[in-house]
Amino acid sequence: SSSVYPSPASSAIPSSLDPAGATSSASSIAPVDALQEDKGFIKTILDSNPYFSAGFGLMAVGAGLTIFRKAAVTGASVLRRQLLVTLEIPSKDKSYLWFLHWMSSQSRGADTGVPKSAILHSKGIMARLSDRVANRVNQRSQFLAVQTEFKQHDNGSVSTRFNLVPGNGKHLIRYRGAWIQVERTRDAKMMDLSTGAPWETVTLTTLSRDRQVFTELLQEAQKMALLNQEGKTVIYTSWGPEWRPFGQPRKRRVLESVILDEGIADRVVRDVKEFVKNEKWYADRGIPYRRGYLLYGPPGSGKTSFIQALAGELEYNICILNLSERGLTNDRLNHLLTNLPERSIMLLEDIDAAFAKREKTQEGFQSMVTFSGLLNALDGVASSEGRIIFMTTNHIEVLDPALIRPGRVDLREYVGDATPIQIRRMFKRFYEREDELAEKFVKSLEGHKVSTAALQGHFVHFKDRPEAACENVGYLTGKYHQA
Ligand code: ADP
Repeated sequence: SSSVYPSPASSAIPSSLDPAGATSSASSIAPVDALQEDKGFIKTILDSNPYFSAGFGLMAVGAGLTIFRKAAVTGASVLRRQLLVTLEIPSKDKSYLWFLHWMSSQSRGADTGVPKSAILHSKGIMARLSDRVANRVNQRSQFLAVQTEFKQHDNGSVSTRFNLVPGNGKHLIRYRGAWIQVERTRDAKMMDLSTGAPWETVTLTTLSRDRQVFTELLQEAQKMALLNQEGKTVIYTSWGPEWRPFGQPRKRRVLESVILDEGIADRVVRDVKEFVKNEKWYADRGIPYRRGYLLYGPPGSGKTSFIQALAGELEYNICILNLSERGLTNDRLNHLLTNLPERSIMLLEDIDAAFAKREKTQEGFQSMVTFSGLLNALDGVASSEGRIIFMTTNHIEVLDPALIRPGRVDLREYVGDATPIQIRRMFKRFYEREDELAEKFVKSLEGHKVSTAALQGHFVHFKDRPEAACENVGYLTGKYHQA
């Protein structure tokens, strides 16, 4: 058979200039060669010339490898197309962070050796983690990124948690019996213009037959993210033109913990609840479905705290915006107000400050929001689920009447310094069953202006010491100052 079908060595001669074409040329030219050449002659040459034989051998191997490689590449792409499914999650998508957190929780628990000091890619920072921390992470994720979360507790203290999330590169995970390749890539050239963060993508690949794990995985990641928010209030702040959660979701503040003067809390809560369930009423009458509230009064009287507690009561989140924020423009304000996250209360703090300050300083870097820009933005706010806008100010007298006319502000409440009723209730909240001391305390503050914030500070200072709180009431009345 060797006379008809050329040996790889002989066929390789004419095609030696073109190793890549070895396969095609072999079949067309080689038979002629085989007929014309004496088999023994070739053999003699090959045997007598070691360079030739070595060269043929190499050529053959080269040709073989080329064929093999081509076949492998083609085969792989066919396989990929037929057998693999890929899911791409861009960093812009909500599920992006959910997924990263989910993955970090997956790899927690796994307890195997990571290279002694895993190199962590962080936002521009390279950090090294101790073995102990690194060991908690899945062995397959050698490249990790650190994501730091601050958590502010109700008492104001801050704790930090480091989340190790998969860094850039490829990772292999096993989920519900399916192998999934996770690749996190960062595009060096593309930027998310709104945030200035590099554009990132996570690509998940798995076998076609396991495609349902993607849905399961995303659902689980979403559930995890929502569970983390359950019973909590998410506070959003503006970040460029978009809203971003500020810190960890906070534990809901109960309404009873904010002590306002009689009737105020009730009136507001009733009004908001009424509004929330009246979507149809607004739609039927073609009225924009939104409602504005204004709480005004001196600082430290619990305006912000009350709005937070109210959000907790309604199971809403809060978007906080300060109009005197640097770099805020009419356009951005408008965009922010029309793109509020679902189920959230918009809180515009210190609305008087924005305009008053700007007139005084005349500096270019101050907020660029104009008064008419604010009115436009407020009027544009509407959505099917209803928009609740709260504004606070310490100086209602400087506000333009146009801002607080009905339609923009539908209900306004004065939240002032502590009244005897508030003082009594706050005292008893801190020192239960101390009725007599409470009366004494209320009396000693008669005729003095004290903010509820100052009261709270006083009671915290004299924690569990009601008598001391009474004796030292002078700190509040300004009779003597704390050392
Ligand atoms: P405002 O927004 O009116 O300036 P804050 O809500 O920011 O006041 O209150 C400042 C601090 O004082 C918060 O820690 C809050 O818990 C406390 N505080 C103020 N007023 C009250 C109140 N009426 N009831 C309970 N706590 C209050």
